[in-house]
Amino acid sequence: MNLENEAVAFDTSYAAGCAEKSGVDIFACYQCEKCTNGCPLAFAMDVMPHAIIRMMQAGLMDEVEDAVTPWVCASCETCVTRCPNNIDVPRLMDFLKQEAIKKDIEPKVPEVAAFHKTFMDNIRLFGRVQETALMGAYQLKGIRQAADLISAPVIENVKLGLKMVAKGRMSLIPKFAKGKSRIKKLF
Ligand code: SF4
Ligand code: SF4
Repeated sequence: MNLENEAVAFDTSYAAGCAEKSGVDIFACYQCEKCTNGCPLAFAMDVMPHAIIRMMQAGLMDEVEDAVTPWVCASCETCVTRCPNNIDVPRLMDFLKQEAIKKDIEPKVPEVAAFHKTFMDNIRLFGRVQETALMGAYQLKGIRQAADLISAPVIENVKLGLKMVAKGRMSLIPKFAKGKSRIKKLF
Protein backbone atom coordinates (compact mmCIF):
# COMPACT_ATOMS: atom_id res chain seq x y z
CA MET A 1 0.00 0.00 0.00
CA ASN A 2 1.33 3.42 -0.89
CA LEU A 3 1.11 5.53 2.26
CA GLU A 4 2.79 8.59 0.81
CA ASN A 5 0.81 11.78 1.22
CA GLU A 6 0.14 13.61 -1.99
CA ALA A 7 -0.58 17.33 -1.96
CA VAL A 8 -3.92 18.06 -3.59
CA ALA A 9 -4.31 21.47 -5.19
CA PHE A 10 -7.87 22.78 -5.02
CA ASP A 11 -9.26 25.10 -7.67
CA THR A 12 -10.51 27.91 -5.45
CA SER A 13 -12.06 30.02 -8.20
CA TYR A 14 -15.57 28.61 -7.61
CA ALA A 15 -15.41 29.34 -3.86
CA ALA A 16 -13.87 32.77 -4.46
CA GLY A 17 -16.69 33.68 -6.86
CA CYS A 18 -19.36 32.45 -4.45
CA ALA A 19 -17.73 34.28 -1.53
CA GLU A 20 -17.69 37.52 -3.48
CA LYS A 21 -21.27 37.25 -4.72
CA SER A 22 -22.79 36.00 -1.45
CA GLY A 23 -20.68 38.09 0.92
CA VAL A 24 -19.97 34.96 3.01
CA ASP A 25 -16.33 34.25 3.84
CA ILE A 26 -16.24 30.61 2.77
CA PHE A 27 -12.48 30.37 3.31
CA ALA A 28 -12.80 31.22 7.03
CA CYS A 29 -14.40 27.81 7.69
CA TYR A 30 -11.99 25.38 9.39
CA GLN A 31 -14.40 22.44 9.55
CA CYS A 32 -15.08 22.31 13.29
CA GLU A 33 -18.59 20.95 12.48
CA LYS A 34 -20.34 23.02 15.16
CA CYS A 35 -22.85 24.16 12.52
CA THR A 36 -23.77 20.60 11.58
CA ASN A 37 -23.92 19.40 15.18
CA GLY A 38 -26.50 22.07 16.03
CA CYS A 39 -28.55 21.96 12.83
CA PRO A 40 -32.13 20.83 13.57
CA LEU A 41 -32.62 19.74 9.96
CA ALA A 42 -29.39 17.78 9.48
CA PHE A 43 -31.44 14.57 9.55
CA ALA A 44 -33.15 15.60 6.30
CA MET A 45 -30.00 16.75 4.49
CA ASP A 46 -27.95 14.65 2.11
CA VAL A 47 -24.77 16.66 2.66
CA MET A 48 -24.07 18.19 6.08
CA PRO A 49 -23.72 22.02 6.23
CA HIS A 50 -19.97 21.93 7.06
CA ALA A 51 -19.43 19.50 4.15
CA ILE A 52 -21.21 21.84 1.70
CA ILE A 53 -18.68 24.52 2.65
CA ARG A 54 -15.78 22.06 2.28
CA MET A 55 -17.04 21.01 -1.14
CA MET A 56 -17.21 24.67 -2.16
CA GLN A 57 -13.66 25.24 -0.92
CA ALA A 58 -12.60 22.24 -3.00
CA GLY A 59 -14.30 23.57 -6.13
CA LEU A 60 -16.85 20.75 -6.35
CA MET A 61 -19.53 22.88 -8.01
CA ASP A 62 -21.48 20.03 -9.63
CA GLU A 63 -21.76 18.15 -6.33
CA VAL A 64 -22.86 21.31 -4.49
CA GLU A 65 -25.49 22.06 -7.14
CA ASP A 66 -26.71 18.48 -6.87
CA ALA A 67 -27.23 18.62 -3.09
CA VAL A 68 -30.67 18.70 -1.47
CA THR A 69 -29.25 20.54 1.57
CA PRO A 70 -29.75 24.19 0.50
CA TRP A 71 -33.41 23.40 -0.29
CA VAL A 72 -33.94 21.87 3.14
CA CYS A 73 -32.23 24.62 5.18
CA ALA A 74 -34.88 26.55 7.15
CA SER A 75 -32.70 29.64 7.72
CA CYS A 76 -33.12 29.16 11.47
CA GLU A 77 -29.61 30.61 12.04
CA THR A 78 -28.69 28.10 14.77
CA CYS A 79 -25.48 27.38 12.88
CA VAL A 80 -24.45 31.05 12.71
CA THR A 81 -24.79 31.48 16.46
CA ARG A 82 -22.62 28.37 17.01
CA CYS A 83 -19.96 29.13 14.41
CA PRO A 84 -16.70 30.40 15.95
CA ASN A 85 -16.05 32.33 12.75
CA ASN A 86 -19.53 33.84 12.38
CA ILE A 87 -19.96 32.23 8.98
CA ASP A 88 -23.46 32.97 7.70
CA VAL A 89 -24.39 29.46 6.55
CA PRO A 90 -28.10 30.21 5.84
CA ARG A 91 -27.11 33.17 3.69
CA LEU A 92 -24.86 30.82 1.77
CA MET A 93 -27.68 28.26 1.41
CA ASP A 94 -29.98 31.01 0.16
CA PHE A 95 -27.32 32.11 -2.31
CA LEU A 96 -26.99 28.53 -3.60
CA LYS A 97 -30.77 28.34 -4.12
CA GLN A 98 -30.76 31.66 -6.01
CA GLU A 99 -27.87 30.50 -8.18
CA ALA A 100 -29.66 27.23 -9.01
CA ILE A 101 -32.79 29.19 -9.98
CA LYS A 102 -30.73 31.55 -12.18
CA LYS A 103 -29.08 28.59 -13.89
CA ASP A 104 -32.42 26.80 -14.43
CA ILE A 105 -31.25 23.83 -12.39
CA GLU A 106 -34.23 21.71 -11.43
CA PRO A 107 -34.99 22.36 -7.74
CA LYS A 108 -34.30 19.38 -5.51
CA VAL A 109 -37.41 20.10 -3.41
CA PRO A 110 -40.04 21.65 -5.75
CA GLU A 111 -42.34 22.75 -2.89
CA VAL A 112 -39.50 24.78 -1.34
CA ALA A 113 -38.67 26.32 -4.71
CA ALA A 114 -42.34 27.26 -5.21
CA PHE A 115 -42.53 28.82 -1.76
CA HIS A 116 -39.19 30.63 -2.27
CA LYS A 117 -40.43 32.16 -5.54
CA THR A 118 -43.81 33.14 -4.04
CA PHE A 119 -42.05 34.72 -1.05
CA MET A 120 -39.65 36.75 -3.23
CA ASP A 121 -42.51 37.87 -5.53
CA ASN A 122 -44.43 38.96 -2.43
CA ILE A 123 -41.51 41.11 -1.22
CA ARG A 124 -41.07 42.60 -4.71
CA LEU A 125 -44.76 43.54 -4.84
CA PHE A 126 -45.34 44.84 -1.31
CA GLY A 127 -41.80 45.71 -0.20
CA ARG A 128 -42.46 43.53 2.87
CA VAL A 129 -44.08 40.18 3.63
CA GLN A 130 -47.86 40.35 3.16
CA GLU A 131 -48.87 37.08 4.80
CA THR A 132 -52.41 36.81 3.43
CA ALA A 133 -51.31 37.33 -0.18
CA LEU A 134 -48.33 35.02 0.38
CA MET A 135 -50.50 32.19 1.69
CA GLY A 136 -53.10 32.66 -1.07
CA ALA A 137 -50.53 32.78 -3.89
CA TYR A 138 -48.65 29.74 -2.55
CA GLN A 139 -51.87 27.80 -2.16
CA LEU A 140 -52.90 28.62 -5.74
CA LYS A 141 -49.58 27.27 -7.06
CA GLY A 142 -50.63 23.80 -5.91
CA ILE A 143 -54.00 23.97 -7.68
CA ARG A 144 -53.95 21.82 -10.81
CA GLN A 145 -57.72 21.47 -11.38
CA ALA A 146 -60.94 23.03 -10.04
CA ALA A 147 -61.53 20.09 -7.69
CA ASP A 148 -58.27 20.92 -5.85
CA LEU A 149 -59.93 24.13 -4.60
CA ILE A 150 -62.19 22.11 -2.32
CA SER A 151 -59.62 19.51 -1.30
CA ALA A 152 -59.19 18.86 2.44
CA PRO A 153 -55.73 20.51 2.79
CA VAL A 154 -56.91 23.70 1.02
CA ILE A 155 -60.06 23.90 3.17
CA GLU A 156 -57.96 23.36 6.33
CA ASN A 157 -55.55 26.14 5.28
CA VAL A 158 -58.40 28.54 4.50
CA LYS A 159 -59.91 27.81 7.94
CA LEU A 160 -56.53 28.42 9.56
CA GLY A 161 -56.10 31.66 7.59
CA LEU A 162 -59.53 32.92 8.65
CA LYS A 163 -58.77 32.10 12.29
CA MET A 164 -55.54 34.11 12.04
CA VAL A 165 -57.39 37.05 10.46
CA ALA A 166 -60.03 36.88 13.23
CA LYS A 167 -57.28 36.97 15.88
CA GLY A 168 -55.56 39.90 14.19
CA ARG A 169 -52.47 37.85 13.28
CA MET A 170 -53.01 38.51 9.56
CA SER A 171 -54.75 41.30 7.68
CA LEU A 172 -56.86 41.12 4.53
CA ILE A 173 -55.92 44.71 3.69
CA PRO A 174 -52.48 44.78 2.05
CA LYS A 175 -49.88 47.11 3.51
CA PHE A 176 -47.03 48.40 1.39
CA ALA A 177 -43.61 49.18 2.83
CA LYS A 178 -42.20 52.68 2.65
CA GLY A 179 -39.26 53.00 0.26
CA LYS A 180 -40.49 50.14 -1.94
CA SER A 181 -38.36 51.32 -4.85
CA ARG A 182 -35.22 51.03 -2.73
CA ILE A 183 -36.19 47.50 -1.67
CA LYS A 184 -36.74 46.56 -5.34
CA LYS A 185 -33.13 47.53 -6.07
CA LEU A 186 -31.98 44.70 -3.79
CA PHE A 187 -33.21 42.15 -6.34
S1 SF4 B 1 -19.25 26.07 12.57
FE1 SF4 B 1 -18.34 27.57 11.17
S2 SF4 B 1 -16.16 27.08 11.10
FE2 SF4 B 1 -17.20 25.32 11.99
S3 SF4 B 1 -17.61 23.96 10.25
FE3 SF4 B 1 -19.42 25.23 10.51
S4 SF4 B 1 -19.15 27.00 9.17
FE4 SF4 B 1 -17.14 25.99 9.41
S1 SF4 C 1 -29.84 27.80 9.16
FE1 SF4 C 1 -30.02 25.96 7.89
S2 SF4 C 1 -28.02 24.97 8.02
FE2 SF4 C 1 -28.14 26.46 9.69
S3 SF4 C 1 -28.87 25.30 11.47
FE3 SF4 C 1 -30.68 26.19 10.49
S4 SF4 C 1 -31.42 24.66 9.05
FE4 SF4 C 1 -29.31 24.08 9.62
